[in-house]
Amino acid sequence: MTTGIAILGSTGSIGQSTLRVLARQRERFRVVALTARGSGERLAEQAKATGASLVGLVNGAGTAEASWRRGTACLVEAATHPDVDIVVNAIVGAAGLEATLAALRAGKRVALANKETLVMAGDLVLRAAVEGGGEIVPIDSEHSAVLQCISGHPGAAGRLILTASGGPFREWPAERVRAATVDEALAHPTWRMGRKITIDSATLANKALEVIEAHFLFGLPYEAIEVVVHPQSIVHAFVEFVDGSILAQVGYPTMELPILYALTHPERIPDAGVTRFDPVAAGALTFESVRGDVFPTFGLGVRAGRAGGTAPAVFNAANETAVAAFLAGRIPFGRIPELIADAVDTHTVVTNPTLDDVLAADRWARERVEATCS
Ligand code: NAD
Ligand code: MG
Repeated sequence: MTTGIAILGSTGSIGQSTLRVLARQRERFRVVALTARGSGERLAEQAKATGASLVGLVNGAGTAEASWRRGTACLVEAATHPDVDIVVNAIVGAAGLEATLAALRAGKRVALANKETLVMAGDLVLRAAVEGGGEIVPIDSEHSAVLQCISGHPGAAGRLILTASGGPFREWPAERVRAATVDEALAHPTWRMGRKITIDSATLANKALEVIEAHFLFGLPYEAIEVVVHPQSIVHAFVEFVDGSILAQVGYPTMELPILYALTHPERIPDAGVTRFDPVAAGALTFESVRGDVFPTFGLGVRAGRAGGTAPAVFNAANETAVAAFLAGRIPFGRIPELIADAVDTHTVVTNPTLDDVLAADRWARERVEATCS
């Protein structure tokens, strides 16, 4: 019996990497469902290559075949399809939340790249997993690294150190960072990814999202989750155990390995697609502190995580809106943290939020940032 896979966001960077991994593992997995927002032509190629039985296109304006599902409802339909065992959520942003919740309630494993949904509604997502018997396994490379280190040592992790590449502006003076152009911000030194996460890596919003993600995934307090800048992106995370011993997961930067591990965890299976590691070629590994003054978005995000309740949802929504405005050429790079700070500081946090509270906070933050930046 093969394991049935749904890929939400199959046309994106993680979606395409997932399909490359699955093309090497056909005896073990079969693709049941594929969804995308636009990119109908790429989706059609993927549907043909995989033989997926459910294909969904969210954006009604795109090219589509007659048999395809249309509109946002296709996400939950794919996520809860009876032939699907694992849902790879590779959607970018808050749009992935409903599908994550539905998949977990239906008892599926969610291989989660879509960190924004865990950040905005962490407690609700964890509850859905408990209620439905579903399971969240991270695709994010740092969290995959942590999971790989702690598997077999339940409850023994005392401290996590997530690594950050530092992004394209790691060594730039603050003034130059504030005036950075879209092209400069999209030129990531070590990872090729979608546009939104690439900007998040330049502001370090991505690392703040990852601290919050780690808090929910591994149940550790914020004091126990640290970040260090590691420009070579070879060490993906360190885990310090209660006895003081430290494990790290190491490898060339590729998302294919964490994607495969999210599908097979806690097992490992052979994969011919991964470049053999050569420590000499990897060269010197260096570590430095985060420059919090130059990258204020990082501190804003971690503070929102610590505040809890609806604060992380506001941070996430404000960030998504500010990043879209920056990519559209409407605001300079330096405005991104200012707009997020305004939203996070103005918001009245709701503790123990319901889904409606979270969605209301998300909407409020988007409107606030839109109104402030126009
Ligand atoms: P991407 O922009 O390349 O792809 C996004 C995918 O989601 C596309 O298929 C798109 O059609 C779909 N999508 C976008 N908006 C949608 C909507 N409103 N409704 C339904 N589908 C929608 O993004 P990506 O780089 O692949 O990132 C996806 C997620 O994975 C993000 O949460 C990101 O933070 C996370 N992630 C990415 C990487 C990476 O290497 N790219 C690494 C770690 C984590
Ligand atoms: Mg990451």
